[in-house]
Formats: sequence, structure tokens, C-alpha cells
Amino acid sequence: MTSIGKIGKIGKVVKEEVIVLGAGIVGVACALELQRLGFTVTLVDKSEPGTETSYGNGGVIARSSLIPLNNPGLPAALPKLLRNQSPQLRYNPWYVLRNLSWAVGFLKNTSSAAFTQTAQALDSLIKLSTLEHRRLLAAAAVGARLRDTGWLFLYRDATAFQSSKFARSVYDEYSVKYQSLMSAEIADIEPSLKPVFTHGLHILDALSVDNPGAVVKAYATLFIRNGGKFVQREVLQIERQSSGLWHLGDLNAKHVVVALGPWSKSFLKQLGVSIPMAFERGYHQHFIARDGAGLNRPIYDTAKGYILTPMEQGVRLTTGVELTDQFARRNEHQLQRAVQSAAEVFPLGPATKDPLWLGSRPTLPDSRPMIGPILGSIKSSIPPNLWAAFGHQHIGFSTSTGTAALLGALMRGNAPPIDPMPFRSDRF
Ligand SMILES: Cc1cc2nc3c(=O)[nH]c(=O)nc-3n(C[C@H](O)[C@H](O)[C@H](O)COP(=O)(O)OP(=O)(O)OC[C@H]3O[C@@H](n4cnc5c(N)ncnc54)[C@H](O)[C@@H]3O)c2cc1C
Repeated sequence: MTSIGKIGKIGKVVKEEVIVLGAGIVGVACALELQRLGFTVTLVDKSEPGTETSYGNGGVIARSSLIPLNNPGLPAALPKLLRNQSPQLRYNPWYVLRNLSWAVGFLKNTSSAAFTQTAQALDSLIKLSTLEHRRLLAAAAVGARLRDTGWLFLYRDATAFQSSKFARSVYDEYSVKYQSLMSAEIADIEPSLKPVFTHGLHILDALSVDNPGAVVKAYATLFIRNGGKFVQREVLQIERQSSGLWHLGDLNAKHVVVALGPWSKSFLKQLGVSIPMAFERGYHQHFIARDGAGLNRPIYDTAKGYILTPMEQGVRLTTGVELTDQFARRNEHQLQRAVQSAAEVFPLGPATKDPLWLGSRPTLPDSRPMIGPILGSIKSSIPPNLWAAFGHQHIGFSTSTGTAALLGALMRGNAPPIDPMPFRSDRF
């Protein structure tokens, strides 16, 4: 392996040290990749790896996720969404008012030109990530958690199915494989579903895992087995010393990677870095299926805005978006409505003993993550060797490993595997 270090006094190669902050899927994937590239990596988290946002998600890795929520179809849907009754999106008006520039930026990015840029960028990131996940799942000996069964969007009538026309045209343009299904074909592949849906869209270019938190833990175990160090500690502050090293208690390193997911915004504030991030919160609950029923893949009930995914813990129901402060009080209304809707289409039994879960999707106005050096502006300079890997909105589980490959190439000075420009930190 080529070393990235400089030659020390006695001719020994000194490896460059990196501290990765955050052991969600993004931080763990970055730690593994930087280790592979020859850095000496310390991974730091206040909790065990994979216990926060990266635990509770739907575990979907899909090429169809190249279409973000703020796509050209959003403005037409806005009048309905603004009534604040929709299962897909609930919002706290005061939160939106306090974050108006984020909201305006988010809506501006529904233009065709912005959408094209984002779809291209996300497509390249998702494709790269899928390859990397396959490699890492095998290396971490958890390949059996991966299902290659796609995922299924479901529609209650032909008019609703028509509303997927735009999405289908994008899938065609980007060669995302899918199949349109009628009710009998839906029953063939998902026999436990009640005959509610007349149409379906089976995304064939989609994978899923049966326990995303366990995948993060397996990746973290691989990192430690390969000589990486994990430190469990809450990080409140980092400082840059005159030596040029970043200082974090008893840890020092040339580089710091911020992979704190939704916490990245408040963390970077102490360094004078302002990140235009909002929180698209989501809930999950696990259920036991009645009468031996089951699902073979994640399903998305497009009218009711929830996803059901077969997981190791049971059937996981995840909700749509609650746009509000990361630490606002829980509001279970959206989840309860989703549970009622799900019970109408699938034999949902009782909830398991697992606690109701809430997490925040960290979203930037253009729905692209920030990957690369955190660059200053004319007004404020940022010390070098501070790196961003956050802002992965609804698709951080999917896009973590591509993020790591891109970040690693940028930190190493290698040719990037995909175009880094759409993910630059100074684009806002
Ligand atoms: C309901 C829901 C469903 C989703 N479904 C999918 C899906 O199907 N597919 C998909 O790809 N994505 C999905 N997502 C999105 C995905 O879960 C996130 O984008 C992703 O988990 C973000 O990962 P992360 O590593 O950036 O953040 P996190 O997993 O939140 O990791 C950040 C880590 O930072 C640590 N931390 C925070 N502050 C500190 C501190 N001060 N000191 C030390 N450590 C700290 C936390 O403990 C945490 O472990 C979903 C999200 C939600 C909410």
C-alpha cells in the first residue's frame, strides 16, 4: 500500500491521523475507507456505532432515490401539503418561518435546471454507493442481510398511478430498471397484501437490508478488527493548535471529518460555520404480522405516505416527514394515522416491545450532502483539514459508502470517483 505519511527522522513512515466524528453509517463508512487508504483513524461517538438515525431508517438502497422530495412536481402538490394534514408531510409553521431561507432555497431547487443537477449528482453517488455496500457487506460477513428484491410503490387507482408519470420518465432517462404492475401481479409478488392497490411500480434497481443498525455495527467491527480505534465520548468542542493539529481532549489529529448527521449543524456553529440544514423528522414502530403474513421487500403506500419494511425485529413502519426542530417534542399523530392506514392493507398484528423511534433526516436546500473540505467564505476563514460528510436527507444509508469513497479520494489527493462539485461545502 502507498503511504500517505511523510518520512520521519529515522526514516519511518509517519501516517497521517484522522478523527472521524460520528459513528452513524456515514462516519463508519468514512472511517473504513480512510483506513483502507492508509490513514490512522480514530472514530468517535457519544453512543455505540449505528444507534441513532442510522439505526431507525428503512434500510433501502435504491437507484430511484435520485429524485428528491424537492423535485419539479412539488410546487403542484404544495397547496394540498400546506393544509398540514397530509401523511407525507407535516410541518411546524413557526419552525418554517424561523428557517425561511432554508425553505425558500428548498423550493427554489424544484426548478428543472436545479433538479437535473441534483438527479445527476445523486445518481452517480447512489451507483457508487451500491457497489461499495456490496463490497463492504461481504467484507464484514453480513452479506446475508442484503435483499435483492427491489421495492414497491403502490397506488390505489389509475389516476394515482398517472401521478408517477414524471418519476417514470426520470427512471427511463437514467436507466433505472422498474416494472409497472397491475393488482394481480402485485398479489403474485406480495401475497400478504390485501387487494387494495390497483397499480404498482416495482423498482428492480433497489436493494434493502433487514437491520440497518446491525449493518453499521458490522462495518464498525470490521474497522476495529483492521486496527481502527473507537472512542465513546460526547464531543462538545474541537480546537486547532498552533502546531496545525486538531485537538480533542487527549486526541490529536491532522484531519477531522464531521459526520455527525443531524447534529453536524449545531456542532459546526461553535467553529463559526453556518450550515443551511433542516430536519425532516420521521418515526418508526415495529409490528408482528398476523397469521404468518410477511413481506418480501419494502413497500411504499404512496397515498398514505408510510413505508413498511420487513426487518429482523418485525415489520417496521416508517412515517413521512415532520418538518420541525431536531429536539422538538414528539408528536405521534402522524405515526398513529400511518398505522391505521397500514392495517387496512396488511395484516398488522400488535406492536413489538421495541420503543417507538424518532430520528431526523438532515437535509440541505438542494437535497445533496456536503462532501469534502469545509471551505471558508470571504467573510470567515476556516482552518484547513476540516472535512464534511453530512446532510444525506432521506438516503444516507444508501449513499454513505459512496460518500466515503469520494471523501477518501479528496483527502488522499486521488482522482475522485465521481464529480465532487455538486457536493462542495461552499455552494450555498
Ligand atoms: C424514518 C426514516 C427513514 C429513513 N429511511 C432511509 C432508507 O430507507 N434508506 C436510506 O438510505 N436512508 C434512510 N433514511 C435516512 C438515513 O437514516 C440518514 O440519512 C442517515 O442515517 C444519516 O446517517 P449519519 O451517519 O449521517 O447520521 P447518524 O446516524 O445520526 O450518525 C451521527 C452520529 O453522530 C453522533 N453524535 C452526535 N453528536 C455527537 C457529539 N456531540 N459527540 C459525539 N457523537 C455525536 C450520534 O450519536 C450519531 O451516532 C431514513 C431516515 C429516517 C428518519
